[in-house]
Formats: sequence, structure tokens, C-alpha cells
Amino acid sequence: MDVIARTGVGASAPGQALARLAGATDNGVPDNLESPQIWDLAVVGAGPVGLEAAALGVEAGLGTIVLEAGEVGEHVARWGWAELFSPASMNVGPAGIRVLLDSGSAPPWQPASGPDEVHTGRQLRERFLLPLADALRSAARIRDRTEVLAISRTSFLKGDEIASPRRRAEPFRLLVRQSDDECVVTARAVFDCSGTYGRPAWAGPGGAPAVGERSVSDAIIRHLPDPLGSDKVRFAGRRTLVLGDGHSAATTVLALSRLAEQEPGTAFVWATRGERPAPLVEFPGDPLPGRAGLASRANRLAANPPTGSEWIRGATLEAVRRTRPPAGSGAARIEARLSVSGAPRCESFDKVVANVGYEPDNSLYRQLQVHECYATLGPMNTSAARMGAAGTEDGSEAAGSGNCLAAGPVEADSLVNPEPDFFVLGVKSYGKNPDFLMRTGYQQAAQAVAAVTRVLHPAVGGSAPAFAR
Ligand SMILES: Cc1cc2nc3c(=O)[nH]c(=O)nc-3n(C[C@H](O)[C@H](O)[C@H](O)COP(=O)(O)OP(=O)(O)OC[C@H]3O[C@@H](n4cnc5c(N)ncnc54)[C@H](O)[C@@H]3O)c2cc1C
Repeated sequence: MDVIARTGVGASAPGQALARLAGATDNGVPDNLESPQIWDLAVVGAGPVGLEAAALGVEAGLGTIVLEAGEVGEHVARWGWAELFSPASMNVGPAGIRVLLDSGSAPPWQPASGPDEVHTGRQLRERFLLPLADALRSAARIRDRTEVLAISRTSFLKGDEIASPRRRAEPFRLLVRQSDDECVVTARAVFDCSGTYGRPAWAGPGGAPAVGERSVSDAIIRHLPDPLGSDKVRFAGRRTLVLGDGHSAATTVLALSRLAEQEPGTAFVWATRGERPAPLVEFPGDPLPGRAGLASRANRLAANPPTGSEWIRGATLEAVRRTRPPAGSGAARIEARLSVSGAPRCESFDKVVANVGYEPDNSLYRQLQVHECYATLGPMNTSAARMGAAGTEDGSEAAGSGNCLAAGPVEADSLVNPEPDFFVLGVKSYGKNPDFLMRTGYQQAAQAVAAVTRVLHPAVGGSAPAFAR
């Protein structure tokens, strides 16, 4: 069994970390669980925010391990063909870029275009996340294909020592799976940066499954497909129901409309829940040109869809079932029953795409003391801070506008859970709320590493840099 242990590194002084950890991990020290040592910091997920946290952890002298269920940047890779709407300068973490450049790698943008360059998800991964992970591997342990199954304290139960710093007396125990084997990693602090892309929301009324949705779940495409690339054959010449009124659904219908120009018979019905006159909110003077362009193109498409396609608003998926054609006469279809402004509408589709959002997998920390927001399922303090940041009484500008730039700078208090030294960071910290930017996650990581450093290295202390709005 391939097992993981901390290998005698950790309580090093900041600045010495890279050199000391380099000798202690992949460069010669045995990698086995029999050494009962404890990592300072375990990061769950090697996405953009997990890697930034690892870079900061290394800089702060924390013995750091990153546990990644798939491969580095796994979630970003899954929508890798799509263009980001934030420029490269907003997508690279300050510590990540320091580590990358210190390792002798080139900046992740072309000299001619500079940090305003716009990347696809694939380019973000290949030019920044993968080289950053490689640069970090000499100083931190980064474990691909290592899924965290559960996080607890080593013996305290969820209800023991409620919200007490005494829980720190015991390290965290992470149950992890590598291939078919399970083993345990222990750590003084844990950052859950595992994202939400792995857990799509249900498409039925009120966020619950539509009637029959669970039994035809395999027939519903719940992530961002690539109709002009690797998924072309699935959509060409077919009729697709697209559910959702966010940027992902907009990206899908724009791609389908381009496919319809190339492949006769390709058509879609775009069903959105709201009754707004246009599916997407457009922000006046939006500083993110990619987002502004996507919203205006999608709204124009809704107003003037290609022949055979349409946009319907006020629509809810009530029920769905697979219909089998007579033997040999074609592929199975999906019959969808919608409620459109209260009126029933039933029709058959070749494909159903539900781009209706994602939610956090809170089963990972079920045995820890985490107070969750009743609206987002993110940690309560993070959600409350976001609601308050808008400066409106109900927080509607930040919390419900869809404008991720409306979030103010991250305050350390907004990240604290009743469970000491456990932090939920990155897009997962926003729970079901999709209005998240990597830039916010990088600020969170800096605050959380500073907080952990203050606890583990009190003599050195730790402070996060001030962030501009
Ligand atoms: C189509 C699309 C476009 C986007 N465009 C932008 C944009 O322009 N700008 C922007 O700032 N944001 C954008 N986002 C949001 C973007 O996803 C996040 O900002 C970013 O990926 C968040 O990084 P993260 O590290 O928090 O999570 P993720 O990128 O989701 O990474 C989480 C990692 O954790 C791993 N993981 C999951 N579960 C486990 C487990 N149990 N054990 C171990 N590892 C696990 C995953 O495999 C993954 O690698 C976009 C999202 C989508 C879907």
C-alpha cells in the first residue's frame, strides 16, 4: 500500500522552508506512514486556491501536504476549452507567481500581451497551475489521485469541547484513498479547497430533483460540455434542452448556436427560471470585458435564436423520463415536463444539459464543528461577511447580483469556524453561490496561512498582506 506521512519537516523558520523541505520529501526521505509525524498543514485539492495556499504554507515554513483527488487543476481541466472572463493578472496568486518565477519558469503570459492576456481554463492550467505544482513539489508534498474521504479530529467527537481551542490538542485525521487503498494523514491545520464542480445541483423545482431525475441522472449532462470540440458528435444534428440562467448555461447555448450554423438539425430550447426580460444580468460598465461580452451575446441570442431553437423563461423542470424508441429505430430520448409560467409543456429531447450550479460536499467535514449558512451551505462567517460587504441592508448587491467583483477584501474573521485551524477556502467557501473569483480565494489563503502560522509558530507570527479593493 502506498502510504503517506509527514517526514520530519514542519516547524521550520520562514525562509528556510524551501531548502529544508526539499530534502525531506521527494528527495530521499522515506515516504511511509509508519513515521507517526504530523503535517503542519494539509490542503485538500490542488486547484488554483489549494496551490496558492501550499505556496504560502511553504513560504511561511509550514510542513505542507496537498491531497488531490484527480490531477493538479482537475476541475479547471474539465472546462478547459472555455475562456475565463477574468484576465491572467487576476487568476494568478501572488505567492504562486513568486514561487513560479523563483523556480526559473517564465511568467504564464506572452510577453507581447502581458498579464491582461485572456486564457482558457486549459491555458491557465498548463501555463500556471502545472508549472507551479512542479515548482512546489520540491518543497511540499503534492499527492495526485489521492482523494480525501473524511476529516475529523483524531479522537474528539463532533460534540466534544464545543468551539473550544482545546480541540487543538488533537491533530486532524484525514482518511484518504489512493487507488483501492485507504490510509490516514494527520495534520495540525486543514484547508478544504476541494471546490464544488464535482457536485452539480439538482435541476428540479426548489433545487431538489425533478420527478424521475435521479433515475435518468446518467442521461443528463451536468457540467460544461464542449459542443464545438470533444462533444460535437453528442450534439450535432440533435435537439437539446439547456437548463440554467448563469454564465455556464450561456456558454453552452452560444456554443450550440455556432454548432447549428455548421450542422443542420442542431437546435436547442434554453429554459431559464427567472421572468427577467433577458436571461443574464448585464452590469453597466462591467470591468470584466469577457463577462460583459458573454452576457450580451447570450441575451442577444435569447432575443433572436436560430431557426428551430428558442428561449423560454419562467420555466421549471417538473419531471423527466427516458423514452426508448422501437428496437433499431434510434437512440433513447429524454422526455421533459416543464412548467412555463405555470403552464405545462412536455416534449422530447436528444440531450439535456443542466447548467444549474454546484454545491459543496459537506460530508468531508461532517465530524468537525462547522456552522453552515442556511442559504448557501458555505461556512456561516464567510456567507455573513459577504452579505454584509454589499453595504445594502439585505446584502443583495453582493449576495444576489451575480457580480463577483462586488465582494470586498477578505477579513480574517470571515474565515474562522468553530473548529479551530480548519478553513474552507476557494469556491467551496461560497457554497451554492457561484459569484466567486479566484482572486478572492487567493486573499482567503493568505489570511488563513497567517492565522495558522500565528498558532504554530507564535514566535514568528504571521500577517496577511493588505488587499486593495
Ligand atoms: C466555466 C467556468 C468558468 C470560470 N471562469 C472563471 C473566471 O474567469 N475567473 C475566476 O476567477 N473564476 C472562474 N471560475 C470559477 C473557478 O472555478 C474558480 O475560481 C476556481 O477554479 C476555484 O478554484 P478552487 O481552487 O477553489 O477550486 P477548484 O478549481 O474547483 O479545485 C478544487 C480541487 O479539489 C479537488 N478535489 C475535490 N474533492 C476532493 C477530495 N475529496 N479530495 C481531494 N481533492 C479533491 C478537485 O479535483 C480540484 O482539483 C469559472 C468556473 C467555471 C466552471
